[in-house]
Amino acid sequence: MTEMTNFQREISRLLPNIKLLFNEPMAKHTSFRIGGPAEVMAFPENADQLAEILKVSTVLDIKPAIIGAGTNILAPDAGLPGLTVCIKDNLSAVEMVDDTHIRASAGATMTKTAVFAANAGLSGLEFAHGIPGSVGGGVYMNAGAYGGEIKDVFTSAEVMTYDGELRTYTADEMAFSYRHSRLEEQPGIVLSAVFALTPKPADQIRGYMQELAAKRKASQPLDKPSAGSAFKRPVGGYAAALIDQAGLKGYRVGGAAISEKHAGFAVNLGDATAEDVKTLLRQVSQKVYEESGIRLEPEVRIW
Ligand SMILES: Cc1cc2nc3c(=O)[nH]c(=O)nc-3n(C[C@H](O)[C@H](O)[C@H](O)COP(=O)(O)OP(=O)(O)OC[C@H]3O[C@@H](n4cnc5c(N)ncnc54)[C@H](O)[C@@H]3O)c2cc1C
Repeated sequence: MTEMTNFQREISRLLPNIKLLFNEPMAKHTSFRIGGPAEVMAFPENADQLAEILKVSTVLDIKPAIIGAGTNILAPDAGLPGLTVCIKDNLSAVEMVDDTHIRASAGATMTKTAVFAANAGLSGLEFAHGIPGSVGGGVYMNAGAYGGEIKDVFTSAEVMTYDGELRTYTADEMAFSYRHSRLEEQPGIVLSAVFALTPKPADQIRGYMQELAAKRKASQPLDKPSAGSAFKRPVGGYAAALIDQAGLKGYRVGGAAISEKHAGFAVNLGDATAEDVKTLLRQVSQKVYEESGIRLEPEVRIW
């Protein structure tokens, strides 16, 4: 009997109503619309269920993969063996903590969280409004846009370790830097985050969010599957400008291409494989290096 059969048997005994999917295409759970089947995908509805899943996984020596909204992941064509835990949709409450702080659960979208803040007349999360990921993914990545970053408003996060223990991390403890947090080196699962915001008239906040949405719509290929910016911003330049200068807009490998609209985006033209995207990113990075001497590193998490 395999460890995943044991997992399924044990978790079904402990949590008879938990949603489990088998051989579930990752392409259905990633914004790239790429990725083969996840052997077992679990959808915990709350922290207690997540803790049970993690405890059983630890006993069986299974290391689960965690996905939020899947908007920054390139999942392999061969799929993901073992267990994938999906945080989005469930665990999605957003609530006031006090007059200037809100708590967002990890599965809430950043857009929902930004709208909640705007409705409460609290400014600081406008930048997050058009980022299509979850709060958990945003904290993990220190997501940012238009001059704002999660770390600017972050106060603390409740994080579950892989053996099911709860920790609260402060901003210092999260060791945020550009598109990075401590969770990359010391894995843990974000359950919720508290953000410190500033009172401001709601119509001004909404006006700024609309302005940013219009900028996104005008500049980004939102009609094509992607994972947002394919590369991190390098020291000494902008990835999109360097790719454009290297003449790579529209450059194509199989079904994957550099967007004609925004050179910082790699897009799926319809039938791209993960191998197509990986080859595209590798070749683009190499050509940019030959032209500029600047090495581009992927921002998208390649699994
Ligand atoms: C059209 C488009 C535009 C985008 N624009 C931006 C932008 O302006 N700025 C920006 O920063 N990003 C942008 N992105 C990328 C993406 O939305 C962000 O990186 C986002 O923070 C990822 O969140 P997610 O929930 O989708 O994470 P996922 O893609 O599901 O996961 C990303 C990583 O986070 C981890 N993770 C997810 N949830 C948790 C959790 N609860 N606890 C611990 N780890 C977790 C995963 O294991 C994985 O390693 C864009 C993407 C798209 C498709």
